[in-house]
Parts: sequence; C-alpha cells; structure tokens
Amino acid sequence: MVTVGGGGKVTRKRKYSTMQHDILNLRAKGLSYRQIAEKLNCSKATISYWLDPNGKAKVVARNKRYKSRSNGKWASRRGAIWKYNYLLDKHCEKCGEDNMLMLQFDHKGGHEKHSNITDLLNGNLNKLKNEVKKCRVLCANCHQKKTLKANKTAFYTTYKEREQERKKHGCRN
Ligand SMILES: [Zn+2]
Repeated sequence: MVTVGGGGKVTRKRKYSTMQHDILNLRAKGLSYRQIAEKLNCSKATISYWLDPNGKAKVVARNKRYKSRSNGKWASRRGAIWKYNYLLDKHCEKCGEDNMLMLQFDHKGGHEKHSNITDLLNGNLNKLKNEVKKCRVLCANCHQKKTLKANKTAFYTTYKEREQERKKHGCRN
C-alpha cells in the first residue's frame, strides 16, 4: 500500500506532478487541450499551465494582478471606514452642517498641502491621519466659497464688487 502522508502540501504536490505527467502523456498521444481537460476533469487553463511555455508566467502574472487589485479595494474600504468614524462627531466649522455626506477636508492656512486627502483615502492610513491633522472640516458649500475667495478668482472679485448693487435692489446675496 502506498501511504500519502506528510500533510496537505505533499499530497497537493504529488497530485500536481501526477497531473503534469498525465497531461504530457496525453498530449504526446495527440489529444487536444479540450480532450485532455475532459479526460482529466480539469480546466483548459490547467492544461495550458503545464503545456504552454508561457502558461505558468501568465497564471503568476494574473494572480499578481488580482492580488494588487483586491489590496487596493481593501485599502479604500479601510480609508472609508476611517473617514466615517472620524466624521461621526464632526460638523462644518463655519455653518455647523453635520451631514457627513456634505463634509470635506479643507487644508488650513499656513499648512503646506502634501497630498490630496482623496488620494490618501485609498492608501497609507498613517499618511492620511497626518494630512487630516492639517485640515479643518467644512461643508461643500462653505468649502466652495472659501476656495473661490482664497484663489481670488475673477468671478469672486466680480461678485464682491457687485455686492452693494445687489443689496440696493434687494437681491438675494
Ligand atoms: Zn458649512
């Protein structure tokens, strides 16, 4: 009796080497990939893994791609959960808006902006925390007003110039 011992790893290895042997044999007999797959009850991908000279490299590359994609997904989920918890008890520092869907991070004056918070939400959590320390929380409305004012846009200048005129005519501000 042949004992297959030594745990899953050995068994798996043994299984694969047998499979490789069978695949090579069947291929030598002139069977197609599909016929081999049916005979051995495995996928065509497995056959090409063993027969295609680049098969192994292709599978390794695909696994690598998948891994980095799923890591990215997890990183952004982690960033999202962190942001959610951070904003739970926050509100806009100007108007008090506390709906967190409206809240944004605004870099405070005097602090150099190193990275975009949105980019950091998908990456390194420590970098994100450090960057958020330099920010205050504003709602989208207040953030927009502040940005237009801070950038001294032509539109904002025009808006301010016409302020008296609007008031005189009783327009909304
Ligand atoms: Zn606000």
